[in-house]
Amino acid sequence: VMEPIGRKIQDHALSRGTQPALISDQGTVSWRTLITQVNRIANRLRSAGLRKGDCVAALSENSADYVALYLGTLTAGGCMVPLSGMASAEALGLMLKDCRAQFLFVSPKNRDLLSAFRVGLPSLPDNRIIALGEHGEGIGPDLPEWLGKEPADPQPVELSLDDPFNIIYSSGTTGTPKGILHDYRFRQRQMVRMSRFGLDGDAINLVSTPLYSNTTLVSVLPTLFHGGTLVIMAKFDAHRFLELAEKHRVTHAMLVPVQYQRILAEADFDRFDLSTFKLKLCTSAPLHADVIANAMARWPGNIREVYGLTEGGISTSLDCAAHPDKWDSVGVPTEGADVRVIDEDGKELPRGATGELVGRAISMMRGYVNRPEQTREMLWTSPDGEVFYRSGDMGRIDEDGFVYILDRRKDMIISGGFNIYAVDLEKVLLAHPAVADAAVIGIPSEQWGETPLGLVVRTGGHDESEAQILAWANTQLGKGQRLAGIEFREELPRSTIGKVLKRELRSPYWNKTV
Ligand code: ATP
Repeated sequence: VMEPIGRKIQDHALSRGTQPALISDQGTVSWRTLITQVNRIANRLRSAGLRKGDCVAALSENSADYVALYLGTLTAGGCMVPLSGMASAEALGLMLKDCRAQFLFVSPKNRDLLSAFRVGLPSLPDNRIIALGEHGEGIGPDLPEWLGKEPADPQPVELSLDDPFNIIYSSGTTGTPKGILHDYRFRQRQMVRMSRFGLDGDAINLVSTPLYSNTTLVSVLPTLFHGGTLVIMAKFDAHRFLELAEKHRVTHAMLVPVQYQRILAEADFDRFDLSTFKLKLCTSAPLHADVIANAMARWPGNIREVYGLTEGGISTSLDCAAHPDKWDSVGVPTEGADVRVIDEDGKELPRGATGELVGRAISMMRGYVNRPEQTREMLWTSPDGEVFYRSGDMGRIDEDGFVYILDRRKDMIISGGFNIYAVDLEKVLLAHPAVADAAVIGIPSEQWGETPLGLVVRTGGHDESEAQILAWANTQLGKGQRLAGIEFREELPRSTIGKVLKRELRSPYWNKTV
């Protein structure tokens, strides 16, 4: 049954009225105020020419207005296209052309970036570029100006499960960005199912990852759908996170692994009252067992580690409290999902064997926008005729059905014909007290083709040398896995969603683009 999120918001506004829907540095927005703003945005978009299915793009840090814009776009029957401020101007131009965006909302922080791509976009004349936030000079009218006297009466649009909901572009660091199209079927299933993690009308969800990422939407959309409250951070800061969590009696947060590390490393962590926490979610990169142990001991509430792709199709989750012996895994396939392992020739491998993970889940993307070929390349058909999604991740499944992620296929190090998975080596390095953070990459080797190199961020107060850490790590590693060297770094480059940018780390060592 179709339950458009716009209509759900309408219902919550009636039943919850003056209760808080959104809390941010700009203040608190009640459900009643939110629905007024959502309807005005929807009506204004339509009076300005938006037709059902048209794309509305946004380039902004998190804010209450951004959430209202998201819901307003959906209410008007539009498709939301949240863009990353980390993408290059060139990539952003390609994305806007690819989806033929009809409106673009830009925060003042992205003014310079906008000026680098705004020419040459025929679907976006100046009167369709609007500033999201104060001091929007040089962008266009700001939101209140643009809304003018637009009325707030609801004007429902007929929607079906096949209608587009959003397009999320891959980061744009790997050449031409691909737009991942999610329809209402995909999102609605997700929004309904996430209530089993307590993301419901009682949830107070502290949002500190960017709204353009699927990782964020996975917890934000269900919270709104079920009538919970969002506490929105424009920018993550570990100490501020703790202050907000205590102040607003937060119950849920979706955090990427590096955020757990930073929050737990705050000197006064233990002074905060975090007893209202029910569940923390984690996804996007490996959450190491020692971090889980630290968080489970000091931070109330359970942890759920989730593994998946923006494309959907594959998904697993790990209940950390229930399975302390499986913290190295990403858990078991979610209800209705099936995960298998295949070799390079596409042959299915038995339990325990390592290969590429493929999966099918109840919800998957509609496809890559304008790219049927690449959409097809993502598929794998089992001998019994079932269609699976290829993950591009190397992994295995243990005898109890728990899934382990070893590496991205393209990050795997092939040394003398032997496959080395960075995660195995990183785990060893991170166990050394002098190592605060570590990434292992493949660098060229005359003898082996490729050989692993460890890039290490040192823990404050430790003065072990590169050679000492190297020698220590290599005594714990298998012969075929040994590190060729260790180099210290001040920090590791990460995407805004906390993934280590291995391509960026590798490129200085290779003369070609890798
Ligand atoms: P882009 O293409 O824009 O660089 P991306 O591929 O990183 O983005 P996502 O779809 O968000 O975008 O990421 C999916 C990938 O993230 C997975 O294929 C996997 O490599 C990694 N990942 C996700 N969750 C986990 C997890 N719990 N543990 C380890 N790796 C994870």
